[in-house]
Amino acid sequence: MTESLYIHIPFCNRICTYCDFNKVLIKNQPVDQYLDALIAELEGIEQTNFRTVFVGGGTPTALTEAQLDRLLTVINNRFDITEEFTFEANPDELTPGKLDVLNTHGVNRVSLGVQTFNEDLLKVLGRSHGYRDIFNAIDHMEKIGLNNYSLDLMYNLPGETMDDLDDSLSHIASLKPKHVSWYSLIIEPHTVFYNQIKKGKMTVDDDDVEARKYLYVIDGLDALGYPQYEISNFSMPQYESEHNKTYWKNEPYYGVGAGSHGYIDGTRYYNIKPVNHYIEAMRESGNVVKEKIILEKKAQMEEEMFLGLRMNKGVDMARFGQKYGPIEDVYGEVLARQIAAGHLEQHSGYVSLTQKGRLVGNTVFMDFLLD
Ligand code: SF4
Repeated sequence: MTESLYIHIPFCNRICTYCDFNKVLIKNQPVDQYLDALIAELEGIEQTNFRTVFVGGGTPTALTEAQLDRLLTVINNRFDITEEFTFEANPDELTPGKLDVLNTHGVNRVSLGVQTFNEDLLKVLGRSHGYRDIFNAIDHMEKIGLNNYSLDLMYNLPGETMDDLDDSLSHIASLKPKHVSWYSLIIEPHTVFYNQIKKGKMTVDDDDVEARKYLYVIDGLDALGYPQYEISNFSMPQYESEHNKTYWKNEPYYGVGAGSHGYIDGTRYYNIKPVNHYIEAMRESGNVVKEKIILEKKAQMEEEMFLGLRMNKGVDMARFGQKYGPIEDVYGEVLARQIAAGHLEQHSGYVSLTQKGRLVGNTVFMDFLLD
C-alpha cells in the first residue's frame, strides 16, 4: 500500500534569485489546461486512500480561488486522506479567500515559505512577499483555526549575520509554529545567484561559518522546544512532517504533475518537466512519464541508508532486515568503521548519525555505496 501522494503546481508569481525548482512564471501560462492534465493524471491513480497528501510547487497558492477550488474538489472526491493534507503557500498569496478554500476542502497543514524575517534579505532573495505579509498570513490561518503550520526558512544567505538568525529565532519563539524547516542556501547552476557569484558580485559564507550557523540554528531551536528530527527539520513533539518522512524512510509514493517523480514497486519514475509538453502528452497519449528506473536491490539498500540517516532517529535496522536481509550482512564493516570514527551510533534498534557525523554527512553516506 502506498501511503503518500505528492501533487506539483509548477507556477510562481515571481521567480526567486536562488531557485532551481521546476517552475515557471505564471503570467500567460495555460494554467487551466495544466489543471485538466493534472486532474486526468490524478484520475488515473486507482488507489483512493492516502495517509498523507502534499501539494507543492512552484507555489500552489499562485492559483486563483476558482482554480484551487476545482483542484481540491477533485482531490476530495477521489481520495480519502486519513492523516496529513499539506499545502505549500507563499505569505503574500495566502489571502483569507484562498485560505477558506483550503480549509473547506480539509487541508490541515500549511508549509509557509517565509525564508527570512529580514526585509532586506527578502529583497535579495527576490521573494514576492515582505515582512508584514508573513504576519498577515499567520493571522489569517489562526483566525480559522488552521494552526498546524511550518515556517520554512533558509540560512547562509548573502550578507546574513548571526543577528539575523537570532531575529528569526525570536520570531519563532513568539509565533510558536508547530514545525520549522531551516535549510542552508545552496547555490545551484542556472540561477541568478550562481551568475552573480561567478561574476564576483556576490559572496556566501565559507564552510566554517556555515557549520557554525547550522549548529547555532540546531541549538537555538532545541532550546525553544523544537528538537531536530531531520538534517534540516525541527518540530514540536507530534508535529513532524509525516509526508516527508515517507521519503526519508524510502517508502513508496506517487508523484503527480509536471516534473514530479514517484517511487512504486521499486521503480522510480520521472514525469515530463516542461508544462506544455506535459499537457500535450496527457492529451495525446495519457502518458506523462518520461523515464522509469528500476532500482536493483543494491541501489535500494544504498538509498535506504542515505535517506534514513537524514533523520535523527536514523535507520530502523529491523525494517531494513525485513526488506533486504540482516543489515550486518551487508553493512557490518561500514557500521563498525563509522561507529569507531564517532560518526554513527546504535540505539534501540536504530543506527543514526552522531552530531559529529552530521557535520560530515556526505562522507559517511559515501561509505554506504556498494561495489
Ligand atoms: S516561490 Fe518557490 S518555487 Fe517559486 S521561484 Fe520562489 S523559491 Fe522557486
